[in-house]
Amino acid sequence: MVNGSAHNKTADGAPVVNIRYCPKCKTGTLYERVPRAWWVKTFLFFLPLKRYKCYKCGRKPYLWEWKGKQPSEDKRSAKIIPLLLCFQLVMGTANAQQGYPKVTGYASFTHPIVTFDRDGAKMNFSDSYTVIFPVGLNLMKSERFGFSFELSPAIRSDNSGAKVSSVLFHPGAVFRFDKGFGMAGRLAFDTSGRFGFTTVFNKVLIKRETHNYWVAVPFPVRFGNSQPASIGAGLQFGVGF
Ligand SMILES: [Zn+2]
Repeated sequence: MVNGSAHNKTADGAPVVNIRYCPKCKTGTLYERVPRAWWVKTFLFFLPLKRYKCYKCGRKPYLWEWKGKQPSEDKRSAKIIPLLLCFQLVMGTANAQQGYPKVTGYASFTHPIVTFDRDGAKMNFSDSYTVIFPVGLNLMKSERFGFSFELSPAIRSDNSGAKVSSVLFHPGAVFRFDKGFGMAGRLAFDTSGRFGFTTVFNKVLIKRETHNYWVAVPFPVRFGNSQPASIGAGLQFGVGF
């Protein structure tokens, strides 16, 4: 029986199995189809390209296959495949560099823990509870450095209920070190009337392909609004994407 493109007939009518050889290692045989890359599906969907997995060299080459025709008898295949390989190389390089400047975003929440001023230490939970929701965009100029724009609404709850007590505009510079460690220096302009700066140390805990989970310790230093200067510490958890 003739079976799709896997079989053909020679001149004398005998069925011949047409084996697809891997164009990369030349010796592996291709029989298992695998999904095409997203950019092939998106931009080259109209081309009769099929992708196979080579179990010999582990690569996933594309073959040009018209319905009912064999790869070996299709002359156009010889022309388009090198072009495709070039495109693949360019896309691969682009992915590897991940193109800077790059915009990343994050959402987080911060538990202020303690604030020190000349009157002593004040714990967050003592007579009210405040939680802050910093959200921001980082414009990374390189793998190591970027600018950050952050807004941090604070919700304060006490005996009389909960409300948004202030919003902090918190722009700054972010620095990234090896092993997921990082640091940020931010200017602080709070609608409560306080202003100052914040030094933040952070560490990526879980890294996924599209997002990551991190923890940070911010040290806010604040002045103004007829109150004594203060320094605080908090614990921040966030997701970056
Ligand atoms: Zn191969």
